[in-house]
Amino acid sequence: MHPIPIFTIGYGSRTIEELLDLLRAHDIEYLLDVRTKPYSKRRPEYAKAVLEQRLKTNGPRYVFMGDDLGGLPDDSEMGAALGPEMGDPVQPPAFRRGLDRLRKAFAQQARVALLCCEARPERCHRALLIGTSLAAEGVPVVHIDEHGALISQEAMLARRDASGLSEQPGHEDAMDGGSVTDVTDVTGEADPTERFAPPEDDAPPPTDADMPGNQDQDLEEAARPESVSPPLPILDLDLDRFATADPATILKQIFGYDAFRPLQSEVIADVLARRDTLAIMPTGSGKSLCYQLPALMFPGMTVVVSPLIALMEDQVMQARELGLPAVFLNSTLPGHEYQTVLTDVRAGRVKLLYAAPETLLLPGILELLKNVAVDCLTIDEAHCISEWGHDFRPEYRRLLEVRHLLPAAVCLAVTATATELVRRDIKAALDIGDAQTHLASFNRDNLFLEVVPKTRAADQLMSFVQPRADQAGIIYCATRKQVDVLSEMLRSNGHDALPYHAGLDAPTRMRHQRRFIRDDVRIMVATIAFGMGINKSDIRYVVHYDLPKNLESYYQQVGRAGRDGLRADCLLLFTYGDVQTSASFIRKMDPAQQKPARMQLEAMLGYAESTVCRRIPLLNYFNESYPDQNCGMCDNCLAPRREPEDVTVAAQKFLSCVKRTGEMFGMTHVVDVLRGSRSEKVLSRGHDALSTYNIGQEYSKKQWQHLARQFIQQGLLIQDMEHGGLRLGPEAYEVFRGRKVLGVLPEPDQAAAPSSGPTDRDHDPDLFALLRAKRKALAEAANVPPYVIFSDRTLVEMAALFPQSPGALAAVHGVGEAKLARYAEEFLPIIREYCAERGIAEQSPPAHPPVPRKQTEGLGARTLEVLALHEQGRTIAQLCETFSVKPATIINHLWQALQAGRPVRGDTLANQIPLPPDTLDQALNAFAEHGAERLRPIFDALGGAVSYDDLHLIRLYVVVNGQQK
Ligand code: ADP
Ligand code: ZN
Repeated sequence: MHPIPIFTIGYGSRTIEELLDLLRAHDIEYLLDVRTKPYSKRRPEYAKAVLEQRLKTNGPRYVFMGDDLGGLPDDSEMGAALGPEMGDPVQPPAFRRGLDRLRKAFAQQARVALLCCEARPERCHRALLIGTSLAAEGVPVVHIDEHGALISQEAMLARRDASGLSEQPGHEDAMDGGSVTDVTDVTGEADPTERFAPPEDDAPPPTDADMPGNQDQDLEEAARPESVSPPLPILDLDLDRFATADPATILKQIFGYDAFRPLQSEVIADVLARRDTLAIMPTGSGKSLCYQLPALMFPGMTVVVSPLIALMEDQVMQARELGLPAVFLNSTLPGHEYQTVLTDVRAGRVKLLYAAPETLLLPGILELLKNVAVDCLTIDEAHCISEWGHDFRPEYRRLLEVRHLLPAAVCLAVTATATELVRRDIKAALDIGDAQTHLASFNRDNLFLEVVPKTRAADQLMSFVQPRADQAGIIYCATRKQVDVLSEMLRSNGHDALPYHAGLDAPTRMRHQRRFIRDDVRIMVATIAFGMGINKSDIRYVVHYDLPKNLESYYQQVGRAGRDGLRADCLLLFTYGDVQTSASFIRKMDPAQQKPARMQLEAMLGYAESTVCRRIPLLNYFNESYPDQNCGMCDNCLAPRREPEDVTVAAQKFLSCVKRTGEMFGMTHVVDVLRGSRSEKVLSRGHDALSTYNIGQEYSKKQWQHLARQFIQQGLLIQDMEHGGLRLGPEAYEVFRGRKVLGVLPEPDQAAAPSSGPTDRDHDPDLFALLRAKRKALAEAANVPPYVIFSDRTLVEMAALFPQSPGALAAVHGVGEAKLARYAEEFLPIIREYCAERGIAEQSPPAHPPVPRKQTEGLGARTLEVLALHEQGRTIAQLCETFSVKPATIINHLWQALQAGRPVRGDTLANQIPLPPDTLDQALNAFAEHGAERLRPIFDALGGAVSYDDLHLIRLYVVVNGQQK
């Protein structure tokens, strides 16, 4: 536990209620008034007598310190105190007496705040002087600043230096409502707190009209999760310790992760070595960490350019949850917050400044950047800079100006997608021609990829969603109408689903998105309009109800799932009908665009039709070859490997049916004819009279389609891209002449089983549900999305490892210092209670990758060892010593053994129960009454008089002896 510091606070322009709120927020017990003269003409409510009276009713104890701390004889003495030898100020005796009192208060760990007039601690000479003196003696001082945030003495001094106040100590007295000079000086003046406000050289916050080329405004508007939440106080992390720290240590301490993901450490190393860098890493691969971690190590600031307000806000929210001093500047900020950000930046309190390009280019901001130390310029979504990219933003091109303005800063450009052309463009546009380039694999190995022929689409969707009722997922559809229909259908079947498409008005879209992000609803049914700027990390599935436009957008959309690294399922419902729809769409396009569009559709088709590992065509599309034959995470790889068999007869039947129907119909129709369908389409064309009618009953519709796709891939059939019609390829004729055709037949109906929970990892689902409910409550209270607090993966690990101490919690994935401090006492009690009631022991985290274990079958070696020693008559206390564990752990081993049917010796147990006979009797009676199944009723029946640890032991005794009778 950290010692309780001495606080300082000033009232500035605060109302008395605001001041009291702050004191309450920090649990202040004593308010020590250190003003020289405890009255102010301007703020009569702060006159000593009034304040004293006011605090009597509800507030901390008020103490006027008078000469002891407030009164300073004269400026020269203060000047000396503030001189270069700050550790050794010339202190008048009264001042020393005052310090003594403070030291005593500290020794007693009282919660004390010193009250002065100036809200900004760096402007208050008493905060400065007292703080300096106390700090020199090792008494920690924390200042409550003008925003109510806590800042350390060092941070306060840094602010003072940055604002140039250290050069003008003499002025400060004028700021003090009660100082010798102010009584006459200040009367009738404007708010004195403004006297030292920074010169108004900053442009006012830009309005939307200032934003050139903001084409996506509507989208962006809709994508914004919510109105700006009030700024969190910037945590006073002791940043200096990072300057020379090892990145891996920071990764664990601050971010809570055990290992870097691919390329993160390489990119970080380059950035730290100040080599300009271009990093191309897929969505969810952890790009943010590549600049957030170095930002902590650099002495100056990191500027992050981000195209979307929603993205920016989300990133800042997450960074602050980690305790990083991050802020953003954009047009949504109210004027005063905008000014606050500028002040904080100037004062060197900010490590990460996120801004839209157009904001950075404002003259006032350019000027600001010139005057602060910027060590890194990060361009997020760097492909926006290229006209060849899919999200070109003209204002990105002007970033070169920013880049040139900051020659000392290393430049890091990151993006998820970039072709060779775009890559070159990025480098040229930023003038970083010789930048290191890191190209991460596009593979996302936690995504389960599956393509299923779309037959009865609505039923297929329902049976996919049903077992995933408590998971978050997105269902993408091609049209708005489809979105409305499906979301209605899901709702009428009892699922919480909401629609999202451009036809809904912006407030509705915003509301729906917000409810999805905050886990109020589970399913978002959407067109492609949905997804930009969505950082929700626990999306467990993405369904494509219709065929995506191309592989790039498909991968981008499925990439929104499983960003936490846990398994996520991606299902594509595929039909050739959709291919035809896309093709007819392409036909209406501008002729110049038709060819590339058609090629993209073909690649999409190649993926959907693939009979090999889906990752092969997918990664191929991104110019990457997938090294393995079997990924184990796609339908094709999981399908039982069937040897290709001779399907020559089937091929002959299919090809000849294509021929006889005139080489103009699509796959579905040909299969209908082969299987003897009585459909209107078949009958009206007289296809029931063909010799190939009804000769294919041996295969299901699905099996025929699967075969047909293989015939296409083998070149026996050619599919018309526009209409989907099939005609014979040149080699088809050889088949008629008897050439052998090999093919793989699927089982009649195979579908990959859904994962059981948010993950296939072994964890306790009931505890997980409790933790998730807690997370939701905390998120609501803090007005942030739940994943900002902890990711699913973190909760899953908690529900697998059962950490019961802060130390154990810190070892859990995603628990860094700040989150530990903030949430340990929120989550640990839940876990402790859960474990106590059920006799579950904490599991030690295994070496990574963490695969939490849970005894399901057989007994562990340790349990057998404990059992054997217990048989020999060792007591629980002795066993604790032998294994250096707590009694609860030993009892748990014995209990496990008993549950597994092993005989456990019962005669030695009674003597080891540390309870007086009366209490033990009561406990035994309670067991007799309530049974040994659950301990909670017994605990309650005994009014909490017997601890769970003891109850576990008694239960063991009861059950062992009951059995032996
Ligand atoms: P990107 O910007 O590349 O799409 P993010 O930076 O948003 O991805 O990171 C995706 C998720 O992965 C985040 O929840 C992040 O905290 C997590 N993450 C990043 N680096 C690691 C790591 N080394 N180990 C575990 N999780 C990580
Ligand atoms: Zn595979």
